[in-house]
Amino acid sequence: MEVQDLDPIGESLGLTCEARAVGWLGPPQVPSGGRLSREAFDVLMEHCLDPWQPYVFMGRHRCEHCVYSGGPGEVHADGRTVRIDGRNLFVPTKDVLYVAPIMIVHYVDAHGYVPPAPFVDALLACPPMRSMAYLKMLHDLGVRAPRPPSGA
Ligand SMILES: [Zn+2]
Repeated sequence: MEVQDLDPIGESLGLTCEARAVGWLGPPQVPSGGRLSREAFDVLMEHCLDPWQPYVFMGRHRCEHCVYSGGPGEVHADGRTVRIDGRNLFVPTKDVLYVAPIMIVHYVDAHGYVPPAPFVDALLACPPMRSMAYLKMLHDLGVRAPRPPSGA
């Protein structure tokens, strides 16, 4: 799937709200070689520890920019560990939902990827994952809440 930053992505993910892709760095898109601020990286790590998901994601993305390994299974920083798998990070604003693969942590840390400014602003303003404020923003955008696991 060839996706550029800020491309509409709602339809392909089955989301009915306005959604934009961030950090879907397939082969056509090369990391910029820049540097995201430490503050923004810390917030990114925090949100990626246990990101809210609308449904269960299977498998994991491979990093197309790590030549042989396909990228790490985990990213460690400051005693925190983000598991790199097939999950996505959902960052809501009033008008739009940004969707980034969890691999974005690795792209920023290892490949100098700098996400677009509107996403970074949204990230810094995003309430804690799964907080009432976060869920309300999703609700206001029209994103459905996850269903409880069957049999629970
Ligand atoms: Zn990589």
